[in-house]
Amino acid sequence: MAAASWAGGSPVEPSAEGAYHGGPLPPACTGAPGASVCAGFLRGTLMSATVPDSFDVIVIGAGPGGYVCAIRAAQLGMKVACVEKRATLGGTCLNVGCIPSKALLHSTEHFEEAKHKLETHGVIVGEVRYDLEKMMGHKTKVVDANVKGVEFLFKKNKITWLKGAGSITAPGKVAVDGKEYAAKHIVIATGSESVPLPGVEVDEKRIVTSTGALELEKVPGHLVVIGGGVIGLELGSVWQRLGAQVTVVEFMDRLAPGLDLEIGKQFERAMTKQGMKLKLKTKVTGAKASDSGVELTLAPAAGGAEEKLSADIVLLAIGRRPHLAGLGLDKVGVKLDERGRVEVDGHFATNVPGIYAIGDCITGAMLAHKAEDEGSALAEMIAGQKPHINYNAIPSVIYTWPEVAAVGETEEQLKARGVAYKVGKFPFLANGRARAMAETDGLVKIIADAKTDLVLGGHIIGPDAGTLIAELAMAIEFGASSEDVARTCHAHPTLNEAVKEAALAVEGRALHI
Ligand SMILES: Cc1cc2nc3c(=O)[nH]c(=O)nc-3n(C[C@H](O)[C@H](O)[C@H](O)COP(=O)(O)OP(=O)(O)OC[C@H]3O[C@@H](n4cnc5c(N)ncnc54)[C@H](O)[C@@H]3O)c2cc1C
Repeated sequence: MAAASWAGGSPVEPSAEGAYHGGPLPPACTGAPGASVCAGFLRGTLMSATVPDSFDVIVIGAGPGGYVCAIRAAQLGMKVACVEKRATLGGTCLNVGCIPSKALLHSTEHFEEAKHKLETHGVIVGEVRYDLEKMMGHKTKVVDANVKGVEFLFKKNKITWLKGAGSITAPGKVAVDGKEYAAKHIVIATGSESVPLPGVEVDEKRIVTSTGALELEKVPGHLVVIGGGVIGLELGSVWQRLGAQVTVVEFMDRLAPGLDLEIGKQFERAMTKQGMKLKLKTKVTGAKASDSGVELTLAPAAGGAEEKLSADIVLLAIGRRPHLAGLGLDKVGVKLDERGRVEVDGHFATNVPGIYAIGDCITGAMLAHKAEDEGSALAEMIAGQKPHINYNAIPSVIYTWPEVAAVGETEEQLKARGVAYKVGKFPFLANGRARAMAETDGLVKIIADAKTDLVLGGHIIGPDAGTLIAELAMAIEFGASSEDVARTCHAHPTLNEAVKEAALAVEGRALHI
């Protein structure tokens, strides 16, 4: 039998693919003479204090970037610890981000459906009411199940959770609540926090960030959302469905400015049709909170006369910034970029050897699945593997109704790059399943290279767009052409057929329109 190496609590064959090659083992453990030293090493590792003080990898932050990095590193045979200062694992995403917001979006979609949509299907429900406490209770249960799930995965993979705030005291050293630990590799995965706005002081009661907006005790009469991005529009939708008047104040001339322009315009129309008031090209210059509400001062983005706007609750959602406070990066000399993010190379390495960073605290989209993929890739790189992330194939989704989803490039980006392209579109109005669902708003748009036919971008607004986009992300990842998508058999009747038809439309041969 090949000599087993000891790393991370599970014996691994040194030759096994992906096994950790990062650090020297005691000579005796490699089968050399002196087995008693090895036995001593194992006994010491297993039987000393319950929390060892030296690891192959210490990850700081247990969000989707950090916890996935920890799990993957442990799977590859490394001895791993993850530092988390929150009382539960899972980071922003599971505790106060993706998961609770999707729970509330889903619950309020049901409410909206029962109130306005079921009758179309001949389902008569009578008076429809909501129970906010129960809705919030459901959200809490969902969050609990998810964060406990990560704790279970840590135990399963023998990952040590170092509870408390971590800081890097020197290369290879992490301090957690006064105790120092050693690590060959340190991963910064401390995520992001809400960007403040001068003159608008958050108290998480009257003026809230997304965290407060997930916890409101009653439906506000008038909710003003500062920032027309994903988080503001999703949480604005939640409270609007429950009866709040929602006004979105956005500095730019459009909502969610990263969207393909055509899709963005449809999105704006859909939000307005639902009753959301949009104040584009407008900035908030001040906010005064009192017991009865908030008085906002607005001005045109380009400058001009100010106006007042009263709100019961204000949601500040103008973006997120890296959360790096207290980490000691200045002391160890880790460089930040011009936007205060940890600067990394193509292998997530900072300028200080042995220190890496991933997720929201580095460049790129602030998305949970991007952070996860980086966590996994980094663990594999540390183990000597050569993973690759195609940043062009990372989908993004706005979970409003209709949903909006995109992957790859927009028409505007391709024009700016001077790339010749073809476009195929198909409306849900002509899709049998969408008609059966009575959800016919929106379209699928596929952009392909004019010469090679490679899929360059996919943009969907409509029912379940966030699920449908996966097919186009895979097309980009696999280097598929629009013809490949068009020639793939799609089950009937499904919403996915709209993707196939849009692919057919790239060559002007959609069948059902
Ligand atoms: C309301 C909302 C909704 C969102 N919805 C979506 C969505 O639907 N889909 C999506 O893809 N993304 C969504 N996001 C974004 C997503 O949550 C983030 O992109 C993702 O959580 C980033 O993961 P991360 O691992 O980089 O950091 P985080 O999830 O922010 O985790 C970082 C962790 O590090 C901990 N930490 C920080 N400093 C220290 C320290 N010094 N010591 C110990 N621990 C520390 C923090 O407590 C935190 O738990 C949403 C965000 C918000 C706010």
